[in-house]
Formats: sequence, C-alpha cells, structure tokens
Amino acid sequence: KPITTDMRTLTEEIEKFAKDKKVEIDTLKIREEYRKDFLGNVSHELKTPLFTVQGYILTLLDGAMKDKKIMEKYLKRASKGVDRLIYIVKDLDMITKLEVGDLNLEKRRFDIIELIKNVFELLEMKAAKKHISLTFDMEYKAPIFVMGDDEKIQQVITNLLVNSIKYGHENGTTEVSVENLIKNKVIIRITDNGEGIPKQHIPRLFERFYRVDQSGSRKEGGSGLGLSIVKHIIEAHGEKIYVESEVDVGSEFSFTLEKAPNKTE
Ligand code: ADP
Repeated sequence: KPITTDMRTLTEEIEKFAKDKKVEIDTLKIREEYRKDFLGNVSHELKTPLFTVQGYILTLLDGAMKDKKIMEKYLKRASKGVDRLIYIVKDLDMITKLEVGDLNLEKRRFDIIELIKNVFELLEMKAAKKHISLTFDMEYKAPIFVMGDDEKIQQVITNLLVNSIKYGHENGTTEVSVENLIKNKVIIRITDNGEGIPKQHIPRLFERFYRVDQSGSRKEGGSGLGLSIVKHIIEAHGEKIYVESEVDVGSEFSFTLEKAPNKTE
C-alpha cells in the first residue's frame, strides 16, 4: 500500500481508523498534528549542521585540501558539526523514550551532594573556558541522601549546569544549593548571573525545541531539547521544576526531590 502523502486522504484514513477502533477523533488528530510538528522540528534541527558539514567537505574537495592548515581548520569545523549531530540524535533518542513513557526509573538512595560534585568535575573544563566558577552556595556540604534515579538526576543537573555556562556571562558564577523543604523534600537550586530570559518566553521554555533566540546564527549550539528532557525526568519522579529569571540579572532553576529515609530506620 502506498504511503499516504495527500493530507485529505490522511484525514480520511484517521477518521476511518477512529471509527473502526471507536476512539475519539480529536485525540487522534492532535496526535497526528503533534507527530507532524515533531518531525518538522527534527528535520529542521538536523538540516543546519548537515549543510555545514557538507559545506566544509565540498570546499575541501574543491581544492582547499592543498593547504594543510586550511584543511585542518575545515576538518575541525566539520567534526564539530558531526558532534552537534550526535548530540541532537542522543537528545532525540532520550526525548522519544520519555514521551512514549518508556523511561524506566531505577530509584535508589544516593547522596545528591556527591552527585553535584561529580557533575562539577565533568563540566570544569567547559566552565573554565568562559571563566565561570561552579560553586556550592551552602554552609555545610555534608551528604544529603535522596531517593531517585541517580543517572537521570545527573542528566538533569548536567543539562541545567550546561545551560548556566552556555547562557552565562564571562567571569560569571553558577551556584548550586540543596535545602530542606517542608516534610520529606529537598529543593535543589541552580542559580546563574548570566543573560537571563525575557518574561514572555518563560511559559514555553520547557517545550521541546523551544529556544529564546531562534536565529540560526546564534552562538550557542543546542537542540532546544535540554529543558524538556529535564522537565520529563523530574515529572516522572513525581516532582516539580521551577524557573525564575530576569534579563541581565540571571536565572534560577530549581526542582524538588524526595528525601531518603535514614538507613538505620
Ligand atoms: P538549548 O540550550 O539546546 O537551546 P534548552 O531546552 O536547554 O535548549 O533551553 C531552551 C532555551 O532556554 C535556550 O535556548 C535558552 O534560550 C534558554 N535558557 C535555558 N537555560 C538558560 C539560562 N540558564 N540562562 C538563560 N537562558 C536559558
């Protein structure tokens, strides 16, 4: 059977399918819109780095290869483009799993302070390039045990810290704190003094592919998926994420986690 490309036929097919299966037509239409929107975004996101890489390769084949220095420069840029493609595909893979609810959380007890220290170490080089310091904003750094999927929470903290570096000013600071909330919760805050986010963008920030600066010429690479991955992971834990931000002052992202019971209990 040929693949349907005609929109009218597609709608008819959906209606028939809905009738057969006795499902709500609206839900199906929304899903279909969502799928089209998603695919449109994906191809758009992949196009830019693909054309960039192709551009460098063609220039090299066109004679630029004769100069060793230029060749190296172009190969490095092409390689950066490929890195970006890999990064986008990894994010897509994650978001797809998250959106079909295929995310198996493996909850265990772990020390959140230790985990944050690990992420600081992993991002040290990236932060140093912009002379940004990653610090704890808390008096004691004694272990604080929480319940959650430590790998996924590490991804959350990594994404938030990477953003604070990407959108932070040179010589800026990103501070992380972990505080006890009422009852059995802690709140983790990640605060930067970077470029901040204009108010009108805040409600849409966690949507996939949403970026404040949509221009293709923007300096900072990214897929626009980071924050939607963060939100999915936090919500899968049954927790909440918050954002406060002011242009040229900075941003604060915070989320809650369940405190782990004492081991002796
Ligand atoms: P990406 O960084 O790949 O564009 P994200 O989903 O991680 O995608 O973030 C969405 C958008 O939110 C970013 O493009 C950026 O405009 C804005 N943003 C996220 N974190 C910060 C931050 N700490 N400071 C300023 N802007 C931010």
